[in-house]
Amino acid sequence: MLLSQYQYNLPFNFFDFFTSFDHPLKSFTRLESLFVFFRYYNISINTNINFCVKGGTIPISHYIIDPKFLYSHIMSLRSKGIMFLDQVITPDSAYLLEEYNKIKESLQNKQGRIPRWYNFLKNHLTISSTNNHLNIELNKPIIQNPRVERLRPPPISVEVQNHTGPSKWIVTWSQNITDAVYGRAIMTTNYSPSGPMLFAEHWIKIPINTSIATPRSCPNLLQPCPGCKLHFPYYVGDNRINCILKIPYPRIIKIYALQKHNIQQYASWLPGRLLNNVKVIKHNHEHYKIVAYNDYLIRNNLLPSRTSLLDTLDNASPANKTYQLITSLIKESVIQADLWSLAQNVQNHNYFEIFTDGSFNRSPSTNEFHMGFGWHIPNIPDFNAFYRGALKHLPSSTKAEIMAILTAIIILLPSNATILILTDSQAAIDGFNKSAQLLKAHSTNAHNDRADELAKSGRFKSVSTNINTRGIPSQNVSLIWNDEVNLDKDIRKYMGKIIDYRLIDNHLNHHNLADIQKFTKKHMINWPVSSKFFSLNSCNDSTCDQHSKDVSWKMKTSTNTLPTLDVLNRNFPDLIKDNINCLLCHNNSETNDHLWKCPSLLPHIRSAFQELAILAQDILHKDADKLNLCITDTIKYSNVFCWSLNDIRAITDNVTAILCA
Ligand SMILES: [Zn+2]
Ligand SMILES: [Zn+2]
Repeated sequence: MLLSQYQYNLPFNFFDFFTSFDHPLKSFTRLESLFVFFRYYNISINTNINFCVKGGTIPISHYIIDPKFLYSHIMSLRSKGIMFLDQVITPDSAYLLEEYNKIKESLQNKQGRIPRWYNFLKNHLTISSTNNHLNIELNKPIIQNPRVERLRPPPISVEVQNHTGPSKWIVTWSQNITDAVYGRAIMTTNYSPSGPMLFAEHWIKIPINTSIATPRSCPNLLQPCPGCKLHFPYYVGDNRINCILKIPYPRIIKIYALQKHNIQQYASWLPGRLLNNVKVIKHNHEHYKIVAYNDYLIRNNLLPSRTSLLDTLDNASPANKTYQLITSLIKESVIQADLWSLAQNVQNHNYFEIFTDGSFNRSPSTNEFHMGFGWHIPNIPDFNAFYRGALKHLPSSTKAEIMAILTAIIILLPSNATILILTDSQAAIDGFNKSAQLLKAHSTNAHNDRADELAKSGRFKSVSTNINTRGIPSQNVSLIWNDEVNLDKDIRKYMGKIIDYRLIDNHLNHHNLADIQKFTKKHMINWPVSSKFFSLNSCNDSTCDQHSKDVSWKMKTSTNTLPTLDVLNRNFPDLIKDNINCLLCHNNSETNDHLWKCPSLLPHIRSAFQELAILAQDILHKDADKLNLCITDTIKYSNVFCWSLNDIRAITDNVTAILCA
């Protein structure tokens, strides 16, 4: 149900539906739980799933979010074939249908009593238990454009509401003049049921000297309109304003003007002298024109339905197929252009021998990428066809090898030519369908050396090549990190990792583990060694009493739960009365933390560490062949031992970490 409602440009997409939950519900599947976790790790989902849904305009899913019964709601709605709020409200969108029996008539499944979701809607969506008038405005279908910011309408009121304070700037599409129209908010009326309406002063673009700039590079300067056909003549109010726009709120896009002190620098752009009343807005007019027009199309559901890449390819001429492939699969326009010009140069040939190679540098310099790839086609007479590129994220040498082959195929494949690809990477061959005939190239071949050089120099390109996952017809869903990096690893494994991390996170957030969390974040705990320490059995018998005591002590110190007086007082208030002062120093309360700070205990800990330092030195001297001085200094200045050799120094965090673990 959620999936199918995705086509409505809801303010949030259906995966974000799960962000309404702080924790996954018990009834969530593993996958649904993951969606709840995604935002904690800055992971988002890209999809190219298309659905065509008919029968309503207001998806019901966003009105039934009741964590307790969400699933029974969805199951019930699904069994009854209800998908839209339209199906359970009056045609004027004002009332929830009074009688559940009335709703029942139109249902495919008429079984059962009044469902829980109906009562939920009645309790949350109507004015009162006796009046079914909806407490939300639904007179416009909530097809929305999530890419623009709206002006928030004021509450319903009989009063006119004036906009005071800093000016609010807006843009909207006018089908009347087929252009974007700017305005400064003046006042709002919001009488039910006409909906919120904005009255704005019309501002127009100042014509500027375009001979010194392209339309995209010139600043967007606005001045008040002296009066035009968009003026709303029945406006009563400030009569210094010459042109008034009246705009329903759902059509308004909020925009931003720059601060006044920026205006002087644009003086040279103006044909005449700098006017007093000039505003500079953030983006150029072309930008707002596109934004406003797209918004108009989306709101009126006029966007042409998206056809799949394959349909487009089938209808295109061969050259266009190449163009489509390049532009839909490659993100960067500079790289698209490079590949397209190469494709045009080779399109009259029908046999290609391509030498490909990838390169990988574990520690690249500042102007270098981790991965580079390159290929060349030596068998075309009169044309030196070669290409090189760089890859940025999640480095692996196989990825570079595969990218070399991929970019070559993209420009050659639609031409129906015979292609022979020569690579020295078995992994790359395995990465493709094994039935493809890729030959393992011989490493002494001069052509191969050239491919190798290209791949290495590819790492120094200024722009890396990125695959646009939306352009891959067979892949519906891809994971994106930080709006930038495609997680192109095995998604199953990634999801497992995310859940594991979440569990560890939750675990470490337990207050008893605060120290361990702190030291883990500082990378002060060597986990492999710690785990050996925890499982170490100093007596040979695994059922030995001493061993279980040891383990228990290790656990309790690491979780700050040793039975010190404060803990005992909390657990047995009758037995251990209020006096929980340290029995050794009588100065502080005896807590787990105090054990490592008690002035009476510290000398003992110090001497223990001095002994350990000597022991460590002896072991290292015996087993290492380094210079003696080096070993002594390493121990003397290490964070673990340095404090113990100097009477004044306080215990270091590293020692606390050791003592705690
Ligand atoms: Zn005007
Ligand atoms: Zn003490």
